[in-house]
Amino acid sequence: MPRDYYEILGVSRNADTLEIKKAYRRLAVQCHPDKNPGDPQAEDRFKEVAEAFEVLSDRRKREIYDNFGHNGLKGRGFGFHDPADIFQQFMGAAFGRGIFGDIFGFGGSTRTGPAPGANIDYELEISLEEAAFGVEKKITIFRRETCPRCHGEGAEPGTGREECIHCRGLGRIRQARKTLLGIFTTETICPVCHGEGSTVKEPCHECQGRRSVEREKEVTVKIPPGVDEGSVLRQQGGGEVGPRNGPPGDLNIYLRLLPHPIFKRSGDDIFCEVPISFPLAALGGETEVPTLEGRTSLKIPPGTQSAQIFRLRGSGIPHLHGSGRGDEHVQVVVEIPTRLNKEQRGILERLEGTFSDKNRPLHRSFSERFHDFLAKHGIGESE
Ligand SMILES: [Zn+2]
Ligand SMILES: [Zn+2]
Repeated sequence: MPRDYYEILGVSRNADTLEIKKAYRRLAVQCHPDKNPGDPQAEDRFKEVAEAFEVLSDRRKREIYDNFGHNGLKGRGFGFHDPADIFQQFMGAAFGRGIFGDIFGFGGSTRTGPAPGANIDYELEISLEEAAFGVEKKITIFRRETCPRCHGEGAEPGTGREECIHCRGLGRIRQARKTLLGIFTTETICPVCHGEGSTVKEPCHECQGRRSVEREKEVTVKIPPGVDEGSVLRQQGGGEVGPRNGPPGDLNIYLRLLPHPIFKRSGDDIFCEVPISFPLAALGGETEVPTLEGRTSLKIPPGTQSAQIFRLRGSGIPHLHGSGRGDEHVQVVVEIPTRLNKEQRGILERLEGTFSDKNRPLHRSFSERFHDFLAKHGIGESE
């Protein structure tokens, strides 16, 4: 059996609304979870205090509680609001949100209407191939959706809503306060109906009167060919339903590209390094190189130098907007053979002995520049 509500707030049974508010404010601030991180006892206490406040600050609920106790409320299907919501509403009202409300047209008979729902941001990692050619992915998100049982009404089907007694359907409460500077009239959001102007006779059994429920939802995401790191796919209305049946926010999917074992990407061009053997570079021939689709054969002309780049036109990423594709750039790296055996060493030594300047185009150009450099500084050549 829950504790007595008057006991929880530490007020007498004939305490007035102001005393109850003061008690709630003091206790809620004291045991607010933000002030007591990781303390489950404080959290329980915060909930307990909110519950007691919710009942005792509502004339009708308090009357039922006074006469029939906890079971009386339970028997009438009263649900409780989120303790954090109650606290926020209360503090918002206490700090004069009502004043701003007037500026923004809260005055008159306007009640708190539907508010737009929150967006959901989702980060999705995809491979380079998926980014290049597009893919359909299924993701699971958690979001608040309109309650399917009451269709967002908040009331148990067949019971309906009724005018809030606390604020007489206005959704706000006017209070005159005497201060040293004179009398101030503040308008605050009704803490009972949270500005809606109506309450439910019997809260919906599925959503406890909140009008929406948290649901796990599988969403299919269509990723078009050509997307890149940081691309955002927006599904309008895929976010959370808004308070009081407000329009849902959007689902924003931020794409992240997984590192690729072979390719690097820059814009719609891709780059890779392919090692080729020293004889192949010298003699020329063909070698197999990777592509986004798999592989292709690349012609290596005789006398290919290390770091030379070959361009495969149209083998890059398809353009996201418009037709066509970027290019693939293959940089060959001539691999110098290591751990030679005696026979191989013999062959290379004989080969080296046959080289003339025309076999070594880089060397010829370099030694000319080296010669000039030394001459300029008046340094004689060695030998
Ligand atoms: Zn419902
Ligand atoms: Zn109200």
